[in-house]
Formats: sequence, C-alpha cells, structure tokens
Amino acid sequence: MTEFAKRGTPLEPDEGAMRELVAKVVDRVVDHILSLPEQPGYVDTTAAIEASKALVERLPTSPTPFEDLLDELFLEHAPQSFTTAGPGYLAYVPGGGLFHSAIADLIADTLNRYTGVLAAAPGFVQLERNVVRWFAEIIGYPASSSGILTSGGSLANLSGIVAARVEKLGDEFLGGIVYVSDQVHHCVSKAARIAGIPRRNLRVLPVDESFRLSPTVVAEAIAKDRGEGHVPFLLVASAGTTNTGAVDPLPELAELAARERLWFHVDAAYGGFFALTDRGREALAGLERADSIVLDPHKGLFLPYGVGALLVRDRGPLERAHSERADYMPPIQEDADLVDPCEVSPELSKPFRGLRVWLPFKLLGVEPFREALDEKLDLAFWIADRLRELPGIEILAEPQLSTLAFAVDRKLGSTAELNRLTRELHELTNGAGRVHLTATRLGERYAIRICVVSFRTHRDRIEACLEDITTALEQVLPSAGVERR
Ligand SMILES: *Cc1c(COP(=O)(O)O)cnc(C)c1O
Repeated sequence: MTEFAKRGTPLEPDEGAMRELVAKVVDRVVDHILSLPEQPGYVDTTAAIEASKALVERLPTSPTPFEDLLDELFLEHAPQSFTTAGPGYLAYVPGGGLFHSAIADLIADTLNRYTGVLAAAPGFVQLERNVVRWFAEIIGYPASSSGILTSGGSLANLSGIVAARVEKLGDEFLGGIVYVSDQVHHCVSKAARIAGIPRRNLRVLPVDESFRLSPTVVAEAIAKDRGEGHVPFLLVASAGTTNTGAVDPLPELAELAARERLWFHVDAAYGGFFALTDRGREALAGLERADSIVLDPHKGLFLPYGVGALLVRDRGPLERAHSERADYMPPIQEDADLVDPCEVSPELSKPFRGLRVWLPFKLLGVEPFREALDEKLDLAFWIADRLRELPGIEILAEPQLSTLAFAVDRKLGSTAELNRLTRELHELTNGAGRVHLTATRLGERYAIRICVVSFRTHRDRIEACLEDITTALEQVLPSAGVERR
C-alpha cells in the first residue's frame, strides 16, 4: 500500500491524507501556472502521437504512489501537448482556463450535490439559473428567455437544433431544410445530422468577400426550396466564425427568418461574449433577435474546457424538445418561475457546471472579463495593422472581432506557389516556439489564422508573434525587402 492508500480506508482518506493530497496538488498547479509564460508556446506533438500508442495500460490491480502519478501528468504528458493554457496559444479558438473555475470544480465535486432536478438542491440549481440569466443579460435577451449549460458549443448547438425541429416541424421532420453558410462550424452540420435531419436537407450557402452569409443568397435558396415543395424551417447564422471570426449580418437575417417563419439560430460560440464590450456589442447587433443562441464560456469567458451554453428566447420550445416524466423521479416543478434542468436539457445527472461561472463572476465582478475582452480586440486590430504594412503579406480576413487571417501576398506568385510559401511561413513562425498559430483554407488559399482570446495573452506576446512572423518572412521571401520593425 502507498502512503495515501493506507491512511483512512482506500476510498476514504483520513483528515491528514486529504489535506496532504490537496496540498501536493496545489504545489503542482500553482508552479504550473507560474511557469506558463516560459513554457513553449508551440509544441509539435507528432512524436507524442506515436508514443501514445504505447500508453495502453492494464487495469491497475495495486496502488501507485501519488507523487509518481503527479509526475506522469505534469512532467510527462503536459509538456507533450499543446500549451492551450498559455499566453502564446493563438490557435483554433483559445480560452485559457481560469484558475477560479478549477477551484469551483473542486468545491462542486466535493459537495457532489445533484443539480439535475430542482428539488435535490434548490439553491444550487438557482445559482446555475442565475448564470443563464446573466448570459441572457449580456447578449440582450429578455427576462423571459431561458437556457441551459452544456459541455460545450457542440452540444449546445445540438439542443438548439432539436428545439427548432420540434417547434417548427413536429414529428414529420424529414422534409425540413436547414440553411447555413460554408463558414459554419462543422459541429452544426454534425448536430443537424444527429438531430435526424437528412444530409441532403442541409443547404450550405456561399459567403461574400467578408466571409458573411448574404441575406439575398439565403432568400433565393428558400424560394427555390419552397418552389420544389420542401419545408424550410431553420436558418443558422454565425456570430464569429471559427475560420475568420466573421459575423453574419444578423439584423437582415433575423428579418428574413421572421418573414419566412424560420427558426433563427445563431452560433455565437466564439463571438458571443464580446457583447460585453462596446465594439463587440456593435458588431453583434441583432444577436438578441435570434430564437436561440450558442455561447461558449470555455472560450469567451476563459473557463476551463467543459462549459457551453444554449440560450432560447422562449422556454417553451426547449421544454417541449427535452421534457420527459417518470414515476421514480423526484417531483418536477409546476411553478413557471422554477426550472428543473433535466426538463430543458438532454442531461439528467450532470456536473454542477454553473459554479465554474458563478464563482469567478461573484468573486471578481464582470468588469475584469469586459476589460480582458476589450484588450483582445485591441490586440487583434493592432497586429492586423502591423501585418498589413509588412511587404509580402496580404490580410485575407480583416478582424471583425479578435480573429484574422493572412497569407503571402497574391502579387508574389501563383496560388500553388503562395500556398507553399505561406505554409513555410506558418511552420517557421510556430517553430520559433513563442506562439501557436493554426491555418485554414479560404477559397483556394492557405491562410494563417491569429485568434486572440486567452486572458493570458497580452501585448508582449502579440509583439513576439509579429517578430516571429517577420523573421520567418525574411527567410521565406529573402528578396521581398521585409524590414524588421
Ligand atoms: C468552438 C466552436 C464550436 C464548437 O464548440 P465546442 O465547445 O468545441 O463543442 C461551435 N461553433 C463555433 C463558432 C466555435 O468556435
């Protein structure tokens, strides 16, 4: 037996053992956070992928010392993974991982109260409702709106699409048509499929030069479908695409959806929380007219992975899509002011996710979040301005929020040549090890993205990013006259 396994009983450590377990973890996590600025901003996991094949473990039949396990986690696996919590992570859509939420998880998991039904933990369920109300307030939804917390944006989109399907089509939904742009997050197409919408019923529409869905294009597609006897029922807009951060023209699309009696769903998983800022609110105008909205607190509120949110203008459709009764369940609330989470969500037993938001919001107030998001907008616009001045660089997607995409200038060669040079630029930039940038494809072009979201990313790291791009560019285009600024 190891030190901890023999104190108390194996499954119930004694007082000293509990305190020691926590103390040892506190040492590790605090050291880890303090070392984040010095950790590599970019980690190539190619070797770790290969090595992971050998990581298959047998069912443990005997205890292992706690220190050995912590060593394995912190010293072996953590360094061989993307530094998603660090300031240099400008890849995909970052978040960071707020420490206060990790503390909230320890509290929530220790209390282990049941937040699937109101009767089991009325106070805690109400705290979670408050989090949903705060989100509604942030995006400008009425007090009568409702919503749920999910594991992430993907499942929030799924519940939104199911609510739309049930509300607009009832049981006969196989003829229902969904409209999305070709920039929509792939989890929306996946959600539509899981929701039973045949693939042939998904209309993937082209975007304009700013990567936005054009209301005219949608209107034409709807008219064509109606002419052919199909049943248009759902329009999905993006408020901040993952590719370029593009915000679809929400007021016009809301208008169109209302006129055509379509459910209007907005995937604001990346962009939604920018509504806390003045510039964000302006860019996201019209969001509040959606029937349902997806937000991702593990992006825009910097939480650790594992919290998404679906907000609905009216609770009715969400409830009709998810409500189910059973004799063995505790009493379900009939009072319109009270909500049983399991009645509006696909989950029954679930983690007390609300605490991950509730604790930091109450502890800090909302202001630090607003300021951090404002700073991200400043940083994205700042680096876009610098990149635009770099000879040999072309911005392919200007920042609409905190994401932008760029490539080697089209004047410098054929598309194939540009793509080769841009890929080289991308690899050299990451190779410098201070930032992690990911790429995407925009039309025929290979594009490097910069997505600034983490609360740990500040001006110094964005300057480092510009420096590394400039140095890489000098290598990729030695004759373009790139000058170090
Ligand atoms: C990240 C993202 C999603 C998916 O959310 P998960 O939390 O990863 O499941 C959906 N839409 C957009 C726009 C996103 O950025």
